[in-house]
Amino acid sequence: MVKAKKTASGRLPAADLVTWGTAAARAWPELQPLLRWFSEHKRDLPWRHTRDPYKIWLSEVMLQQTQAQTVIPYYQNFLQRFPTVRELAAAPQAEVLKAWEGLGYYSRARNLHAGAKYIIETCGGCFPESAEALLKVPGIGRYTAGSVASLAFAQPVGAVDGNVLRVLCRLGNYPWQQGNARDRRAGEALLDCLHQTGRYPAGPLNESLIELGAVICRPGAQANCPACPLQIVCKARLSGQVQALPGPARRLAPLPVEQRSFLLLINQADQTWGFVQRPASGLLAGFWEFPSLDGKVSQEEIDRYLEEQGYRVLHLDYLGQRRQIFTHLIWDCDFWRAEVSLPLASGPPAVTVSPPGEPPGLAALPDGQTARQLAEPGQAYTPVPRKPVPAAPAPAAEQAPGFSQPTSWLSPAGAAARFTFPRVLQSFLPEPGAAAPLS
Ligand code: SF4
Repeated sequence: MVKAKKTASGRLPAADLVTWGTAAARAWPELQPLLRWFSEHKRDLPWRHTRDPYKIWLSEVMLQQTQAQTVIPYYQNFLQRFPTVRELAAAPQAEVLKAWEGLGYYSRARNLHAGAKYIIETCGGCFPESAEALLKVPGIGRYTAGSVASLAFAQPVGAVDGNVLRVLCRLGNYPWQQGNARDRRAGEALLDCLHQTGRYPAGPLNESLIELGAVICRPGAQANCPACPLQIVCKARLSGQVQALPGPARRLAPLPVEQRSFLLLINQADQTWGFVQRPASGLLAGFWEFPSLDGKVSQEEIDRYLEEQGYRVLHLDYLGQRRQIFTHLIWDCDFWRAEVSLPLASGPPAVTVSPPGEPPGLAALPDGQTARQLAEPGQAYTPVPRKPVPAAPAPAAEQAPGFSQPTSWLSPAGAAARFTFPRVLQSFLPEPGAAAPLS
């Protein structure tokens, strides 16, 4: 095997990776034992029964931050709802997000949707076959392009994710580090060159490396070398470096923590809950959530804030704490259950008018009652004229910190069936399958 030249810091040189990769691939050990092991021991996963590029693409996107066993039901349900790329492209984004609910990292769903539109509108509905063309599809990066091109179209191109990089690093005993972009480029160059030798079928070579990294060549002490089909040729095993490779990632700065206090605000009159939609852009854009306050607040403060907004608080209980970790931020959330009677409104009723394709909400009427909005999706709702109700003069309320007033009052089952919620809120709502229709 070719000895990789090292810089003074012991790292691979960045320059001329193709030259290095070509030489390394020529001297690479025989990988037929890996392909035989894969054909005999591979896990039976639904996306391994297809060569449809749309289905392979979907599985790769879902698997990016999620374990295979978790992905299976989501993958099957998503394909039932959107069996082809054309049906996905034609769907409203809210429906796509709803089908994604529970998987998290919703930017993946938005990118998938944007990519489907691109394939229909720009490629005339024909899936690009080469990795270069796939890279032009919004949301498709190098790993996914290589995976779809090799698995669906047998193109000789590598697909290097963290698992594959770990396997290559250990087989060659390279001093690579997790999360290092230059080391990843070296791994990609090496695997591309291995494909270009023409010694192995493209799809099975990529899949077998992915599988080995997922189930045998696991990180750190979890590596199961005695079960590995490549143990005889693995340089890291022969030199006792398995657990040390790849090296640890550079320590990142801790994520900022945002404290939020969510209120399960329950209308005592009909047991509907208050919901509010997040802004149309930014974090979790367009999702729904419970009314909330910024920061950590005490029972007395919540009681006072609600009273100042005109609610009469009948019961107020602390439910506990949950945490949601995003890529750039952590939410530490307190949850409170507040049973209230609604305020006497002095302004126009808080009516939810559904945009086209969106489900109808409930209208909060000015006298504090609620009623179901029966308008069809997309139709404006005109409240039935009611006798004016004398409104109590609004007290000079202190502004609650970030208090988001509910705009819709719904049964929790109806809301769970129709809206998309951040993961941290979902455990307070009924399972979508148990949701009762809102009519
Ligand atoms: S022998 Fe061990 S370290 Fe080497 S590839 Fe196999 S599982 Fe990974």
